[in-house]
Amino acid sequence: MRLLIMGPQGVGKGTQAALLSKHYGIPAISTGDIFRYNLKNQTPLGKEAQAYIDKGELVPDELTNKIVKDRLAMDDTANGWILDGYPRNASQVEALDVMLKELGTPLDAVVALTAEHDVLMERMMKRAQLEGRSDDNPETIAKRLDVYAKETAPLLDTYKTRGLLHEFDGSGDIDQIQATIVSELGE
Ligand code: ADP
Repeated sequence: MRLLIMGPQGVGKGTQAALLSKHYGIPAISTGDIFRYNLKNQTPLGKEAQAYIDKGELVPDELTNKIVKDRLAMDDTANGWILDGYPRNASQVEALDVMLKELGTPLDAVVALTAEHDVLMERMMKRAQLEGRSDDNPETIAKRLDVYAKETAPLLDTYKTRGLLHEFDGSGDIDQIQATIVSELGE
């Protein structure tokens, strides 16, 4: 099973990706988590990405595409994967298309989660208190939601046209949402 999970900040992508990962026995790959790991450890990649992340901007495509390409080449991806937080703009969609073509592993489905703006803001504020992520402050959150609306949301149409899009309401109960996704995608 090869999946993308898409949706705005705070919609619960990471939570559902972790559950899908467990259900299907495939790794959940989050570009945000990879960047945060590198930031924490102050690797060269982390240092390069820091300024963009702190501002709520996208890290340059060249850097991001490379980490995804390297990650998809690892052994644990043989049975599939879930990509969370990638692709985020049209050029990343193209880069992913090329990678998957080279690997001979086409995408099976795109899981898109939706929720009202107020729900998203409330969850993000709560997460900011709980996790203390440096990019979870009102200014950066607003910027990230803006980038999402302008650059990422239009990609849903791209995948809809390809017949891969499955949309779900992300504002309900976590386990219920998961059950609905699995019943639509298949056991
Ligand atoms: P959120 O979805 O809450 O904004 P993420 O954890 O997915 O958080 O990403 C955090 C930050 O990492 C983003 O604001 C961005 O700077 C960077 N990032 C993550 N994924 C990508 C990507 N596909 N392309 C460019 N930058 C990315």
